[in-house]
Amino acid sequence: MKSMRLDQGHLYAVSLGPGDPGLVTLKALRLLEDADSVWYPATSAPGGGTSSIALDILHSCALDERKCRRIDLSMSRNRSDAEKEYARSWSLMLEELLQKKSVAVVTVGDAGLYSTVTPLLEYAAEAGIPYSVVAGVPAFLAAGAAAGIPLACHADRLTVLAGVGSVDEIERALAEGGTVVVMKLSTLGDLLVPWLESGTIGFFYAEKVGMKGEFLTCNVDALRSRKIPYFSLLICSQSGKSS
Ligand code: SAH
Repeated sequence: MKSMRLDQGHLYAVSLGPGDPGLVTLKALRLLEDADSVWYPATSAPGGGTSSIALDILHSCALDERKCRRIDLSMSRNRSDAEKEYARSWSLMLEELLQKKSVAVVTVGDAGLYSTVTPLLEYAAEAGIPYSVVAGVPAFLAAGAAAGIPLACHADRLTVLAGVGSVDEIERALAEGGTVVVMKLSTLGDLLVPWLESGTIGFFYAEKVGMKGEFLTCNVDALRSRKIPYFSLLICSQSGKSS
């Protein structure tokens, strides 16, 4: 593939899309092939070892693993551990940037949407390091496509929520009309199924869209004994319009 001329001493935040390597943009791929180093987020798995959707996508793109570096963002760790890890990664990235290297940091979905790259862009801005962001496909758009439903038509409202702690927040958004997307759905935990059963909500549940283990349903029975994982989201609307 035709290579890109990358700026030296420049940080690139590169969106990888939600999991399907086919949704990595040509721009992202060219940039990753040409970057001197590629940093990716990983999480520690409960039984030891680490897992990284971002690295899985990089593998599918046949990226040279020797230039890939891990940012270890264990979900079970507290916020200050994550802050320390961001600071550690940034100091290593900064060294490379000051040596006039081109550094890419990747993120699942789009880099501007609840993304792990945001703290690193803040560090870059503070240090006066130039950076750019490469847009990508966010998970909720891939989920809408998998469902074959338009998320919004004409002048419809589209609301995106994330990490809600109660169904009231979703209800309030639904009352405003249109389609509501709930990302980081696992924060709702056991509240999800009783709420879906009790109301007149049309919904589409999407887990690991485009990844190994993809699970999609608009049937509440299929969710009854299901543990809601981190990589899941809900698309819903009043009166069953989105199912
Ligand atoms: N930057 C990402 C969002 C990161 S926040 C984007 O643009 O999509 C992490 C949340 O994204 C997860 O909790 C989940 O709700 C959603 N998500 C990311 N990838 C997903 C996938 N393949 N399938 C379902 N949900 C996904």
